[in-house]
Amino acid sequence: LKRIAIVTSGGDAPGMNAAIRAIVRTAHAHGIKILGFIRGYEGLISNQFVKLDARSVGGIIHLGGTILRTVRCPKLRTRKGVEQAAETLKKNKIDGLIVIGGDGSFRGAYALSKKTETAIIGVPATIDNDVYGTDETIGFDTAVNTAISEIDKIRDTAVSHERVFIVEVMGRKRGFLALTVGLTVGAENILVPELKFNPEEICDDIVKSIQKGKRSSIIVAAEGVKGTRKLAKQIRKTTGCDVRLTVLGHVQRGGHPTARSRMLACLFGEKAVNTLLTEEKNKVIAMQGNKITTLSLKETVKHQKPLDIELLKLAERLAV
Ligand code: ADP
Repeated sequence: LKRIAIVTSGGDAPGMNAAIRAIVRTAHAHGIKILGFIRGYEGLISNQFVKLDARSVGGIIHLGGTILRTVRCPKLRTRKGVEQAAETLKKNKIDGLIVIGGDGSFRGAYALSKKTETAIIGVPATIDNDVYGTDETIGFDTAVNTAISEIDKIRDTAVSHERVFIVEVMGRKRGFLALTVGLTVGAENILVPELKFNPEEICDDIVKSIQKGKRSSIIVAAEGVKGTRKLAKQIRKTTGCDVRLTVLGHVQRGGHPTARSRMLACLFGEKAVNTLLTEEKNKVIAMQGNKITTLSLKETVKHQKPLDIELLKLAERLAV
């Protein structure tokens, strides 16, 4: 193993920089040369990279975002784009490519793996936590903590003004963030894209909770849940409560990574290089029950990570 490359792809996540640092420094210790392709798969297709060494990743462990930058790259979804990316890897004699990103980035990596000899390793980093096979992704814990500190503030005003708040957190397709945030802020209701919600039931819950002496309610909804605006209107109409809809937005994607996100970045980063050193190909690094392990890239992209319905039930039981 002489030359490896790193690319950060898809939506950014806090801890991507800590992962870059861990990869570069582990590789450096083995005398491996490291390139960083810039702007996600775009840089891989157009052969734009920077050389990385132990010093160039100094002072970034605590920074959100990614120093290599990231874009969504529709070109990689075409056969020509994949071939161009494979050509760049060949031209630069890259033995191993480490892709730091989410579910979509790994689908791209899988497409690329079929056209190249270069070994590809995925490092799961996304605030969505939607990568199959790993309990957690780099950045998820940071996004959860950002969202809960905002919602705790919203709860203050919800309580004093006796209001119902519907708070929209990120998650266009999957509800992992909404579920963990909802449980940990003590939300009265959690709405996820995977499950249809019943507006009448939610209105009923609010009426019952008022009868039980609750003076406010927080509903956490993933952004992919349709009809939250309509729901707000319906709650207002049927319960007479003052209802507000708050969209947390991109604050959830930025900021300093938490200790947990940095820890995962250090562990995943080192494991990614070690996996390449053992000449394994096309793997994704994962955490399963506090153990760092690998699974095949193919297995990861062919499966959907299931949502933990038991956690949803727990949140319901505790929000009485
Ligand atoms: P994330 O990795 O955060 O889930 P995206 O879903 O935006 O982010 O995917 C990142 C990039 O991966 C896309 O811009 C595209 O270049 C590539 N990609 C995603 N899905 C595929 C696919 N099915 N085939 C090839 N490339 C893909």
